Amino acid sequence: HGEIDFKEDAKFSQHLKKGEAVSEFAMSKSIAEQRQYLPIYSVRDELLQVIRENQVVVVVGETGSGKTTQLTQYLHEDGYTINGLVGCTQPRRVAAMSVAKRVSEEMETELGDKVGYAIRFEDVTGPNTVIKYMTDGVLLRETLKDADLDKYRVIVMDEAHERSLNTDVLFGILKKVAAHRRDFKLIVTSATLNAQKFSNFFGSAPVFHIPGRTFPVNILHSKTPCEDYVEAAVKQAMTIHITSPPGDILIFMTGQEEIEAACYALAERIDRLTSSTDKAVPKLLILPIYSQLPADLQAKIFQKAEDGARKCIVATNIAETSLTVDGIYYVIDTGYGKTKVYNPKMGMDALQVFPVSRAAADQRAGRAGRTGPGTCYRLYTESAYLDEMLAAPVPEIQRTNLGNVVLLLKSLKIENLLDFDFMDPPPQENILNSMYQLWVLGALNDVGALTDIGWKMVEFPLDPPLAKMLLMGEQLQCLDEVLTIVSMLSVPSVFFRPRDRAEESDAVREKFFVPESDHLTLLNVYQQWKSNQYRGDWCNDHFLHVKGLRKAREVRSQLLDILKIPVTSCGYDWDIVRKAVCSAYFHNAARLKGVGEYVNCRKGMPCHLHPSSALYGLGYTPEYVVYHELILTTKEYMQCVSAVEPQWLADLGPMFFSVK
Ligand code: ADP
Ligand code: MG
Repeated sequence: HGEIDFKEDAKFSQHLKKGEAVSEFAMSKSIAEQRQYLPIYSVRDELLQVIRENQVVVVVGETGSGKTTQLTQYLHEDGYTINGLVGCTQPRRVAAMSVAKRVSEEMETELGDKVGYAIRFEDVTGPNTVIKYMTDGVLLRETLKDADLDKYRVIVMDEAHERSLNTDVLFGILKKVAAHRRDFKLIVTSATLNAQKFSNFFGSAPVFHIPGRTFPVNILHSKTPCEDYVEAAVKQAMTIHITSPPGDILIFMTGQEEIEAACYALAERIDRLTSSTDKAVPKLLILPIYSQLPADLQAKIFQKAEDGARKCIVATNIAETSLTVDGIYYVIDTGYGKTKVYNPKMGMDALQVFPVSRAAADQRAGRAGRTGPGTCYRLYTESAYLDEMLAAPVPEIQRTNLGNVVLLLKSLKIENLLDFDFMDPPPQENILNSMYQLWVLGALNDVGALTDIGWKMVEFPLDPPLAKMLLMGEQLQCLDEVLTIVSMLSVPSVFFRPRDRAEESDAVREKFFVPESDHLTLLNVYQQWKSNQYRGDWCNDHFLHVKGLRKAREVRSQLLDILKIPVTSCGYDWDIVRKAVCSAYFHNAARLKGVGEYVNCRKGMPCHLHPSSALYGLGYTPEYVVYHELILTTKEYMQCVSAVEPQWLADLGPMFFSVK
């Protein structure tokens, strides 16, 4: 039952009949040979020539052609690092780390020595660093300290086609830097052909094309829409594994939960098959990848599977263009991805699952044709592809909250944001909305200029509400406690919930619950870890991710460095801590309506306690709560909730609330 039926692609069959051999190159070659095999290598000298002759160059090349890993090295080899750094920005953290690691191997240097990376709260560079990979957010923050970015000789703005919010803002800023500094070079790279727009923005900068080297991909659409794409993807992967010739599989899903579910189901089915047959079942190496996965596990996707085994990578859209894995012959595309969108009904950002764009779907399919002719199984119909998907994704700047960007641009003395040189200006309504939220938090005054609080908030690499919480912690003399909460909110969840021990881990987790607050629960976890000498075995015993907690500890100390003031503690008077939380999140206040059901005080939409919340677990339902964010899954769930007094809402958010 429920077998997926795919349409045949006649053109491709012909291709195969022509007898195209499956090439088996990459794995057996040395790193130096692999470098020379990349498409970009064949145009190395021409490319460097164009860069010498122009200040800004746009480079276009297929994913996997070598833009990210080679360009920086070529620039280094061509002498650009004699008097400055070569910086390369990435929209994604995972990509910055993983690519820096690869390039450090290619250059035979320790990561953090000649080649390093910087992401928020993690700087792995040193005095010898000449090539620095970083997220676009990190470079954006560096412009706060050094508007002309004097330490960089060249910036490569990688993955420009992604049009991430920070990259879009950097476009405007780097254009100015280029105008100020004759010695500065800017290279913009794109995996797709929309490069003309970038070229136009930089006054008709030359566009350099890297010749492609790709194999045909047979694209098969599902004949009928599929109900459960996780199940369908798992089934398809199993079918490929059992019946198709060698070649690795790449599955595109939307996020961590689905990916874990799919990996689990795959492992289980392989097990079941193994125990139900005498025949040898070929090995399947199942590898998840998503942004919150620990770095050492992320690196595994590049590992070669042992002989006779097949690799199956289950990824988010990170594997669309940011990371290239060789040896993929089969792509399974669910057709969905998660996107952050500003939801005007809720007045806030929400991560939502959407159909991907046609451009993204084509990128995904292309991943199967890197090493030889491949196959892409689309778990959606051809008419969905043609009629329902957008041609290209909407730039992030057009669809998200701009709080951080507004704060940053204001601090760069850009008075009128509507005048900033945006490639695609955000809707005016979006800018005004974000300014309003900053005004509500006290970061902007009535004429839209930064207040003292606003200036202080810019210092922190945090979303405005979290920065506000820290500043309130200082004022209310509970900085120690608030620092911990903010740090815990800045790392992936520390709670570990293995599928096969779910009940046991839930029971342990419940012991940490503070009835009136998830924020205080996080504080409680951290403090108990601290009083157990920050021990790793203690974490294991309590179903906590030790790496997450260590990261929180590190973030904490970095935030403390920025604060440069002594910490104050309120001891166990945790009501004050909740008040600091309230000061940052009163715009997300909700009032009790029914059992476990709340309504947002300002917008009136329903919001629910999540089953993982301490309040839910202990059945405590206070009249008023504030929450960190709203997550849309099957319902609108409040994430990280704290009970608050109505009086606090009136005191801290007088523009919204008053006590009758
Ligand atoms: P582009 O940026 O043009 O998409 P990249 O420079 O990222 O291309 O990739 C070039 C090659 O380097 C690819 O074949 C890819 O598989 C390989 N590569 C990149 N990162 C790693 C890594 N961490 N381990 C092994 N190979 C890698
Ligand atoms: Mg790249």
